[in-house]
Amino acid sequence: MQRPLNKRLIGLVIMLIMVINVFGFSVSSKADGEVQSRLGNEEPQEYTDEEKAFIESYGTVRIAYSADFRPVAYEEDGELSGISREIFNEIERVSGLDFEYIPLPEGTIKYDYLQEKDYDLIAGVEYNEENLNVDGLYLSTPYLTSKRVLVCSEDFVYDADTSYSMAIPTGSVTLKKVVQEEYPDYELVDYDTVAEGLQAVHKEKQDLLLLNQYVAEYWLAKPIYHGMTVIPVEGMEDILCFSAVIDIDGDGGIAVSDAEMIINIINKSLTMISDDDMEGIIIKSTMDEHYDYSWLDFIYMFRYTIVIVAVLVIALLITFLVMGNLKKKHLEIRAREEKISSIQQKKYKMIIDNSSELIYEISLDGETCIASEGIKEKFGWEIPKVVDILSINSLCEILHVHPDDQEQFYSSTEGLVANKEVKEVIIRLGRVDGVYLWCNVIYMPVLDDDKNMVSIVGKILDVDATMKEKKLLELQSRTDGLTGLLNKTTFEEETRAYIEDNTAVSSAFIFIDMDFFKSVNDMLGHVMGDQVIKDTAIKLQVIFANCDLVSRFGGDEYCIFVKDIPSETLADKLNFAIDKLSDIYTNNGVRVKLTASIGAAYCSSPSVGYDQLLKTADEAVYRAKNNGRNQYIITYL
Ligand code: GH3
Ligand code: MG
Repeated sequence: MQRPLNKRLIGLVIMLIMVINVFGFSVSSKADGEVQSRLGNEEPQEYTDEEKAFIESYGTVRIAYSADFRPVAYEEDGELSGISREIFNEIERVSGLDFEYIPLPEGTIKYDYLQEKDYDLIAGVEYNEENLNVDGLYLSTPYLTSKRVLVCSEDFVYDADTSYSMAIPTGSVTLKKVVQEEYPDYELVDYDTVAEGLQAVHKEKQDLLLLNQYVAEYWLAKPIYHGMTVIPVEGMEDILCFSAVIDIDGDGGIAVSDAEMIINIINKSLTMISDDDMEGIIIKSTMDEHYDYSWLDFIYMFRYTIVIVAVLVIALLITFLVMGNLKKKHLEIRAREEKISSIQQKKYKMIIDNSSELIYEISLDGETCIASEGIKEKFGWEIPKVVDILSINSLCEILHVHPDDQEQFYSSTEGLVANKEVKEVIIRLGRVDGVYLWCNVIYMPVLDDDKNMVSIVGKILDVDATMKEKKLLELQSRTDGLTGLLNKTTFEEETRAYIEDNTAVSSAFIFIDMDFFKSVNDMLGHVMGDQVIKDTAIKLQVIFANCDLVSRFGGDEYCIFVKDIPSETLADKLNFAIDKLSDIYTNNGVRVKLTASIGAAYCSSPSVGYDQLLKTADEAVYRAKNNGRNQYIITYL
């Protein structure tokens, strides 16, 4: 029993055996009927003069060949190619003969056919006893010998004692007889081509296929046949030679003399081809004649990968289709939602436009801004349709918040984003003409389902008139009606607040009492008296800084709290005040000279409070009066 062998190993063995065989075969020739070796004991033979003359005169030798034995003999671009062709070229070269090659049809070729076609030689003829004894054939010495192999399917286990069916792709009648003698129990089946025979074995229609080892090696390189088993066949070599087709009955072929001449010339030519040249031909041809993969072979080799890729591609396509469909549906839904949203926006806009209140909504992403038409009518500016990014700053700009109110606006927004609280603030919003209007600005966060703020809705109420009235009342309650200076209560509140926050250190509490003011009233009248009180107030506002607290304390008394003053400067300032407050007033030719007495408390200690300052200043005035008036006295605490 013979086990299947590794195909690569077999290929290597085949190649080695081939090279050995080509140069070491033993054959018999028609001429002497003995087995001869071309090499070793066959010296190169010279052509006779007769043969040389024949070569000169014969013209083209027409050689028929079977083209189904790649890489031994096959047709490429209409030309005989392969190992045989290389050898024939050498014969042409050394002999000077001129060969023309004519392909034979597929299948078994009968002698009659060969005669009819009038070929000079047939190439690739089996060099065996059968053919040596066929009348009408005249065989040359072999030009190529190679092993034969049996090709079987991958799992086939060969048993020498079993009968098998064997495919023989051949055009040779005699080969079949030789095989039948070697394998008497086998069923032999003819195939016209190697391809058909291989397919039959591959599909296990036949058990075995008999092939030339070169041909087997070439065909088994085809991916579809990878894994097929090759079994070397001993004692049945494929020995190829030329045969002349002799005209024996006048029905075609060449004359016996010509046949002998041509065959002798070829035989001698074969002795003239050096071992190196022959070896070179075999090696070059077997190297060159490797099987070239076709795209069908690649498909076969990568069939599983292709199937996987195809499945993946189909899956991908289906995914794309499904995704595309989903996206389309999603887009349709979105378009519908946008349409609904657009209608709602329009309705919303109509509602807010027709509302008596000024309403606006700005989305946090700044992409949706809606506002009442009334905003433009009232302020002259519009809330932009799109805002880059909504922030407190941008909102402040959009609403034209008064610079003095921006701080209040910012602080009012605290908690809006974090706590989502409704906020309200009274601030001034500017019109395009530069006039600011007091407005109650309410803004509330709009939350989505996840409680995230998505936009701010605001309402603007014009409270300008009310606020102005309120501000006026506030001012009036804080000031003296006649002079506009702080009144006594406000002065006390603000002075106490300042001392509490800063201490009274480096501050001065100044008490001013006009001298003999009664005489102004008495001599110039009360109206003039009032005017003098107002004039004095104006003078004091000029003498003291804006940040100082200047008040009318009552009657002809004024109190000033100077927040931060060096003691020397205080003396200068009081000197200056005495000077400025000393004035002559006239009415209807009556002249009255008016002066002032000033008492001041200068504080150097942090523990001094409002009451002590007032008392000290009051006492100082009292002393100034007693000292003769029109003077100041400073008491340092
Ligand atoms: P002395 O130097 O001691 O201060 O004398 P004097 O006359 O200024 O006396 P005193 O300060 O005690 O009196 C202030 C007077 O100022 C009393 C009152 O007639 C007058 N007076 C008080 N309030 C007003 C006012 O609103 N208008 C006018 N025209 N006179 C007022
Ligand atoms: Mg007075």
